Amino acid sequence: MLDPWSYSETDDYSHLMEEFGIEPFDPAMVSDPDTQPRLFKERIVFGHRGFEYVSRRIKRGEPFAIMSGLMPSGRMHLGHKMVIDQISYLQEFGARVFVGIADLESYATRNMPLKKARELAIGSYVRNYLALGIGKEGLEVYFQSRRKEVKDLALLLGKKVNLSTMRAIYGFTDQTNMGHMNAPLLQAGDILHPQLKLGPIPVVVPVGIDQDPHMRLCRDLASSFRTYNATETSDGRIGVFVKVDDDVEGRLRRAKASLEKEGFLDFKMIPAYKALYLTGASRSDLIPMDEAMAGVEAEEGEYGFLPPASTYHRFIKGLTGEKMSSSKPETAIFLDDAPEEAAGKLMKAVTGGRETAEQQRREGGRPDICSVFETMLFHTVKEEKEIQRIKEECLSGERLCGQCKREAVEYMRGFLGELKDKRDETEHLLNIFISEE
Ligand code: SF4
Repeated sequence: MLDPWSYSETDDYSHLMEEFGIEPFDPAMVSDPDTQPRLFKERIVFGHRGFEYVSRRIKRGEPFAIMSGLMPSGRMHLGHKMVIDQISYLQEFGARVFVGIADLESYATRNMPLKKARELAIGSYVRNYLALGIGKEGLEVYFQSRRKEVKDLALLLGKKVNLSTMRAIYGFTDQTNMGHMNAPLLQAGDILHPQLKLGPIPVVVPVGIDQDPHMRLCRDLASSFRTYNATETSDGRIGVFVKVDDDVEGRLRRAKASLEKEGFLDFKMIPAYKALYLTGASRSDLIPMDEAMAGVEAEEGEYGFLPPASTYHRFIKGLTGEKMSSSKPETAIFLDDAPEEAAGKLMKAVTGGRETAEQQRREGGRPDICSVFETMLFHTVKEEKEIQRIKEECLSGERLCGQCKREAVEYMRGFLGELKDKRDETEHLLNIFISEE
């Protein structure tokens, strides 16, 4: 069981992927891998659910949305930045970005007062989101406690799930408070509510694997509100099936009309099976068929939720070798650290160096397990040639850790200084992007 509120790290991602049915993420689903930022190239994003819907939209230049939740609970560090970098990159393909501040969840699960959550969210999180480049067109930041659609949706979604399922997914006990039990429904409300505003649209949620229980629940809830199912049958036929009992023939006729507009021509309708088979269609047609059916549902006044997609990223190790954590300042560089503080932490950081300088000169270092190298690779060294030079010098033994750390400190100084300037420059945009409803 994965616990979204107190997950302890693992390196065994393939086991989790197999256990929970997460698909491997192919960077080509977004764009040419050679042109991508390092977090994609280096396979930090390793898995997904349902990203094919988003990929299809990206390739066709059609709209999609990104949902990112943040639970204000401490200062932002470089681990948080990696999610922002991912969102910022996907935003370049025209995505609308919703950032939901989970202040109600923070209250229910971390005992954080709403007022304090608000101050922390605006003063630290949103400022850094903007400074790191997300403050472009199409961004909307909101608070769970103020967004009526999210809270209403959470209540409606609650009708489709019972306590036994919630216990099985989250391990809730008799002592779990009801606010905490409601938090996953609020999250599902967050994730699905862009489709109330924009109509059926693929929405991707970039998360760590510990958040997968929320995605599984939310995808099931989205599906339970659908009235059509586009699928391949066990005997290999492709079709659309009506999931409800009323007006089956009418629904099948409307499905057929919509699919004809999408260019499908050959149908066999069997109302007794609630089925509309598409002769000549293949598995690759299922997504456009599902999108068309969601459109029909929306026209009929239903939700027509497309299944929300997720991407999963690895957790970057902390500077001390353990999990990066806001509650252990020595493990992480915070985005508002003074350069001297960051320098002190980097100089004490765990590296991939050898036991002695002589051994390192002889055998070379191990940048792949070095937290100092990671800070340069993912955050501070932009030039490809430069990072390659550092890596090669490390591997060959030409570079020793003391000198390397001093260089890393200088890069970090530049990065933190630039980020601070950006925070100051974008401060005036806060009110533009923060919605009070
Ligand atoms: Fe890490 Fe640099 Fe040491 Fe290599 S030389 S292990 S990159 S600190």
